[in-house]
Amino acid sequence: MKVQKLNQLYEGKAKKVFETSDPELLIVDYKDDATAFNGLKKGTIESKGIVNNKVSNFLMKMLEEKGIPTHLVEEISDRETIVKRVTIVPLEVIVRNIAAGSLSKRLGLPEGTKMKRTVLEFCYKDDALGDPMVNEYHILAMDLATPEELQRISDYALAINRILSEFLAQAKIELIDFKIEFGRTSDGAIILADEISPDTCRFWDSETGEKLDKDRFRRDLGNVEGAYREIMHRLLGL
Ligand code: UDP
Repeated sequence: MKVQKLNQLYEGKAKKVFETSDPELLIVDYKDDATAFNGLKKGTIESKGIVNNKVSNFLMKMLEEKGIPTHLVEEISDRETIVKRVTIVPLEVIVRNIAAGSLSKRLGLPEGTKMKRTVLEFCYKDDALGDPMVNEYHILAMDLATPEELQRISDYALAINRILSEFLAQAKIELIDFKIEFGRTSDGAIILADEISPDTCRFWDSETGEKLDKDRFRRDLGNVEGAYREIMHRLLGL
């Protein structure tokens, strides 16, 4: 499929988004820029844009084959992908299998603590407010999603967790937690949007526990590029 790349619609922390000659399609262009702590820490991770583009597309394609609708249309270069145009539901949907990061801090659970069941969290996407955590009541009271949309988003998030965890385990990657975002298409369907990558997931080596994700950047653990490359290598063989 060939659509023409037109004007830039938006530039975020890790991606640029362009309009195309088809009003229903956008082109996402992944950058090497990295930020953490709500933009307080800034840097670049060489080739991150390539890894995130390819890893996200690979995982979304796999999810699509297992019945999860996604925005993925076609990868057109190392860093660029055609996606369906959606209105993003302003929620960060976080799924957790093992305690880490902000959950460990907030609840005093040592990182690596296996929890008795999966935890689903929502944060309201608002940079100025620092993406505060909200519950179902806030979401419905603020009309961020309808009850039907929220049910669908929760069901998809838990299904995505089951599919991804099982798939990644075969590549000796343990899925600790991840953040996803959903969008509404022009006909009102809820689909998986944004990205699934080492920027948005915690991936630990199943055997050694080594961190293979953005925590290497957040916490200055070194070999950030190597960790991103390792994830791409294990999943895509590249
Ligand atoms: N996460 C993300 N973007 C955010 C916040 C979190 O992609 O703005 C991901 C993060 O990479 C991790 C999961 O969501 O895989 C849970 O993150 P946590 O709440 O522990 O946040 P942290 O403060 O550690 O970023």
